[in-house]
Amino acid sequence: MRYAVLGTGVVGQTVAAKLASLGHEVVVGTRDPKATLARTEPDGYGNPPFAHWLAAHEQVRLETFADAAAWAETVVNTTSGAATLQALEAAGTANLAGKVLIDIANPLDFSQGMPPSLNPVNTDSLGEQVQRAFPEAKVVKTLNTMNCQIMVDPARVPGEHTVFVSGDDTVAKKAVTDLLVSFGWPANSVLDLGDISTARGTEMLLPIWLRLWGALGHADFNFHIQGARTGA
Ligand code: NAP
Repeated sequence: MRYAVLGTGVVGQTVAAKLASLGHEVVVGTRDPKATLARTEPDGYGNPPFAHWLAAHEQVRLETFADAAAWAETVVNTTSGAATLQALEAAGTANLAGKVLIDIANPLDFSQGMPPSLNPVNTDSLGEQVQRAFPEAKVVKTLNTMNCQIMVDPARVPGEHTVFVSGDDTVAKKAVTDLLVSFGWPANSVLDLGDISTARGTEMLLPIWLRLWGALGHADFNFHIQGARTGA
C-alpha cells in the first residue's frame, strides 16, 4: 500500500518508519522539502533534525504535502493540530478525495501557554472539522490518545489497553483496524466509538492524558476500557 504521512515531527517519523518496516511504500509530506531538509537544529522537543531521520530511512521519500497526497492510496495526518486544516488544504482536496484519511492530530492550543487547551472542543472536534472541510475523504480518527511510540508498539504498555477509532465510513474503519492489527494491536483492543463526532471524546482525553504524563513522569501508559466488547 502507498501511504503519505503528512507531518515531519516525531509522530510522522514514528508512523512512517513503522509503515516502511511493514513493507509499505511511504512518502512523508511537508510544506517545503528543501527547507525541511535544510534544518540543522533539533525540533522544539529536542529531537534531531528531520534530515537525520530521513538518512536512516532511505526507503522513505520526502515530498510536498500535495505531491505526497496525490501519490498515496491512504493519507495519514500527523501535522500540528493548529495547522492541520492549512496542511490538508495544501495537500489538496482532489488529492484526498475518495481516500482513507487517518487523523492522529490533536487540536492543542498553546496560545495561552502551558498546559494547552483544546480548540475546537465540546461541541466540535478537529476530526469533524477535517471531515467537513474534505467531505470526499474518509476520515478516521485514531491513535491520538497515546504517545507515538505506543501507537506502533503497543506491547510497550503491559496488559490490555485500548485504541479508539471514530469515523463515518465503516469500510474505512475496517481498513484502519486491519492496519492497527498489523501494528501489533490485538483486534479486541480496537474500540469503534461510532461516527466522526465521537472524536470529540477522544480529543478531550488530552487534558487528562497530559496530567497523567506529569503525574507518572513517563509516557508509556494508555487507557484501558474494561467491559468493552470490542474487535473487528
Ligand atoms: P508537530 O510539531 O505538532 O507538527 C509538525 C508538522 O506540522 C510539520 O510537518 C509541520 O510542517 C506542520 N505544520 C506546522 N505549522 C504548519 C503550518 N502553518 N502549515 C502547514 N503545516 C504546518 O508534530 P508532532 O509532535 O509529531 O505531532 C503531530 C501531531 O500528532 C500533533 O497534532 C499532535 O498533537 C499529535 N499527537 C502527538 C503525539 C505524540 O506522541 N507526540 C501523540 C498523539 C497525537 P513542516 O514539515 O513543513 O515543518
